[in-house]
Amino acid sequence: MTLFSRKGHYRTSSLGNLYWVGEHDVSRDDWYRSQGASEGEYTKYQESLRMLQEIEADRSAASAYTKPNAVCPVCGQSVFFYQNRSGSRVYFDDLGKPWPKHPCMDFPAFAGDDASRRSGECASPVLRAAIEIQVIEDLLETSWRDTQREFWEKYGVSQWDAFKVVKRLRAGKRTLLILDGISYLAPRRIFLIGEKTPQAIREGILIYYYRGWVSFFDPQKMEPVDHELGRLSGPSAFVEALLGLK
Ligand SMILES: [Zn+2]
Repeated sequence: MTLFSRKGHYRTSSLGNLYWVGEHDVSRDDWYRSQGASEGEYTKYQESLRMLQEIEADRSAASAYTKPNAVCPVCGQSVFFYQNRSGSRVYFDDLGKPWPKHPCMDFPAFAGDDASRRSGECASPVLRAAIEIQVIEDLLETSWRDTQREFWEKYGVSQWDAFKVVKRLRAGKRTLLILDGISYLAPRRIFLIGEKTPQAIREGILIYYYRGWVSFFDPQKMEPVDHELGRLSGPSAFVEALLGLK
């Protein structure tokens, strides 16, 4: 019997009373029985699970906003894949710290040759469209999946907030960055400032932020990189920094 879990939350009973459901693991059948779900609710729940599976959004926390861009040739699981021009490759089970690598690909056999390796093409996971991310978040809700909690259970840390770099500007020696939150869990927009900002922090890339640190995948080094940056209080502080007033 498959187990699933989610955070404590409020639910409305069939009599219309709001009640608290604590953090717990329940089997799907137990849930069906104990919550007194109607046939319609159960069908919707199953349908949501099926749709999440179909669009590969249920395997990892990052899959809610980034489409896995490769399939493991060993176990058939959807994975996140980076390749640089010289053909180096890395596969991840999920994105963000601790950057869990997909285990099957650690074998030397996969360091070997195939057609795409010689082609010199770069590859990296692509962010899903905003509307798709919204649909996925709704599906996760109706299917009682909490992939953020699952990330924490698997890796012992919470996934840092995911952002997209929307603007990178120079102000003298310093670099100014505007990051937009990808999921509803992240702040909508943050403003960062720093010196010697790595070139790999380009507009459009996926980046993770937590308390003055960013973490991202550097395609030149072919490894995840952490970098310290200052956080500005908001748009006006950003403009002042840009004009060199601060
Ligand atoms: Zn595998």
